[in-house]
Amino acid sequence: MTFDLSNFPRVGLAHLPTPFEPLNALSEHLGGPKIWAKRDDCTGLAGGGNKTRKLEFLIGDALSKGADTIVTVGATQSNHVRQSVAAAAKVGLKAEVLLERAVIRDEAYANNGNIMLDHLLGAKVHECDASADLNLDGQLFAMKLAEQGHTPYFIPMGGSSVVGALGYTSCIFELMDDADNNGINIDGIVHASSSQGTQAGLLAGLIAAESTIPVYGISVGRDQTELSAMVLELTEQTLEYAGLTKTIDSSSVICSDKFCAPGYGEPNSGMIEAVQLCAQLEGVLLDPVYTGKAMAGLISMIRDGQFKQDQNIVFIHTGGQTALHAYPSIFKG
Ligand SMILES: *Cc1c(COP(=O)(O)O)cnc(C)c1O
Repeated sequence: MTFDLSNFPRVGLAHLPTPFEPLNALSEHLGGPKIWAKRDDCTGLAGGGNKTRKLEFLIGDALSKGADTIVTVGATQSNHVRQSVAAAAKVGLKAEVLLERAVIRDEAYANNGNIMLDHLLGAKVHECDASADLNLDGQLFAMKLAEQGHTPYFIPMGGSSVVGALGYTSCIFELMDDADNNGINIDGIVHASSSQGTQAGLLAGLIAAESTIPVYGISVGRDQTELSAMVLELTEQTLEYAGLTKTIDSSSVICSDKFCAPGYGEPNSGMIEAVQLCAQLEGVLLDPVYTGKAMAGLISMIRDGQFKQDQNIVFIHTGGQTALHAYPSIFKG
């Protein structure tokens, strides 16, 4: 089961391996399977989160191409943008970011949390109105910088290119070690799925490892049919980029949009319950946009009896706590 990613340029940015720990009180409360948290909120870079794994490969690629600036895009409260800007600061690259005002809430959302840290971390922040194609806007912006004599490296939304997805392909090998170290078999992986890089990277890693562990991607906004098609495509591209001559069966792409209403970045009661349960039973902070909805999905699957009591289900805690400060009113009591 050896699969070598060492030919790809990579920069050490994350604290790896991230902790792998049982959420015993939560498992007991739900009366379901044993829930394990893969703590990718603890990747360590300026608040951490899942994008840091992707950025190890993305920043490696940028440096190998002689870039002097990274350009990336996201929502006002993008965790990806915060981690990208921090990564750029750490390796001495400039960062220019386009933040789309797609979710308009209040003063805290507009100014606190991630956007505040983007400024603190030294990025040039350009805010724009909701866009039909933010990735395209970002690419055009990067082209303009190139015309002015800079050497930009464009990172798409969520860091979800084939390069970024390798971060989660390699995470699978960490998870295999976590399982061995704890003497368990992993029976399922649950995580928040949005720009596809995490889910596609995980699926590519599982295929490389010849494992059939199911991955449940909980959509945080997109329709599940559309999301699964996009995950399938990025998984195929990632397998090819990684030099693996293996294919993915479309039936192994599992996405659910049952937990994302009313829309991206918009709270719902399942999310609030999940965030409160993890905080109050485990002292673990989830976030309102991604992990809260993903955990609501896991809780619902457990309540529906989808897992057996002796199974081991891994919840990938992809981070995002910084955004709690952008939503003070829903948790203040
Ligand atoms: C970006 C993000 C995700 C989703 O990861 P994708 O690779 O975009 O699907 C999940 N959780 C958090 C906290 C994130 O910031």
